[in-house]
Amino acid sequence: MPATGADSGCRVDHTVNKWTGGYTAQIKVTNLGPALSGWRLTWTYTGDQQVTSAWNATVTQTGDSVTAADAGFNRTLATGAAAEFGLQGTWRSADPAPVGFALNGTPCGGGGTVPPTTPPPTTPPPTTPPPTTPPNGADCGSAVICSDFEDQTGPAPSGAWQFTAPDCQGTGTASVDTAVAHSGSRSLRIDGEAGYCNHAFVASTADLSSAGPVVYVRMWVRHTTALPSAHVTFVSLPDTSQGGRSLRVGGQNGALQWNRESDDATLPAQSPVGVALSRPLPTDSWQCLRFAIDTTAPALDTWLGDELVPGLHADGVPTQDIDQQWLARTTPPRPTALRLGWESYGTGDDTLWFDDVTVDSAPVGC
Ligand code: CA
Repeated sequence: MPATGADSGCRVDHTVNKWTGGYTAQIKVTNLGPALSGWRLTWTYTGDQQVTSAWNATVTQTGDSVTAADAGFNRTLATGAAAEFGLQGTWRSADPAPVGFALNGTPCGGGGTVPPTTPPPTTPPPTTPPPTTPPNGADCGSAVICSDFEDQTGPAPSGAWQFTAPDCQGTGTASVDTAVAHSGSRSLRIDGEAGYCNHAFVASTADLSSAGPVVYVRMWVRHTTALPSAHVTFVSLPDTSQGGRSLRVGGQNGALQWNRESDDATLPAQSPVGVALSRPLPTDSWQCLRFAIDTTAPALDTWLGDELVPGLHADGVPTQDIDQQWLARTTPPRPTALRLGWESYGTGDDTLWFDDVTVDSAPVGC
């Protein structure tokens, strides 16, 4: 395949494995020029690829221009020697092969992109320290779900977490992020997109049917964009009391809210007074979000950090602006599964990360 250009200073073999919205690339650079002590391989993306992480090289991207610098241990490249490194990234509308490879400024010949008929991505070699402690030192005990996502070694959710797009799917994507984490070095990342019926979730394979009578949910969540005025959802719990429709946590009018899919009731009511009794979800920082869902009574509690949010509290006494509408339905919920992701019903896109997710029949701390 790649002819070794005798007059070139280097040769690049670029092997890409891609899927909708993401890719990994394995890059082998062979030095055909004088020996190097310290190297930088540069190239240009002609699509909208964005590198999110790399191994065995330090990769930075400015606009379309990408620079991979040696990782120290592989800084020496004798004539004829090769270094290999890998990276992971995202793309949205196009991901054509990169162009203009150059090693320390000298254009590379030969090589090129190997068509994506290559084996599935393998686990990147660990270049980050392994996780040391369980989330917050917590003991998972008898929790139904207790995940720090550290066992997610591929670029896409797998095993106990499966991608799903209930009802309909748009352009939103889910991935395992090794660059942003609340614990360890991995979290679940959702690139949520605007647009009606743009659904992208990752569902735990755990059955929550036996959890309770009060189901306690704890997650650490981080996002980039303030909750919009329009209705969005980022947690969805299929609920047998609604015939399988979902109990949903998301936002509307800039603040957190619960929504019941079957009758579209909201908690709090979306009056200005009700909305003010909820809270925005702060951006660009990890937030501890906890729920207590009573499966024996129409009661629901929500904590953001250590605060029991008054507008996200339903009890047996209908309160105007808060749970009067919610309590119009008296059948208690029976959640059976947990999905984390993004569901837009109009405007609003967001990038979210989830980590240290626990579902238990006993209260869970942050
Ligand atoms: Ca983690």
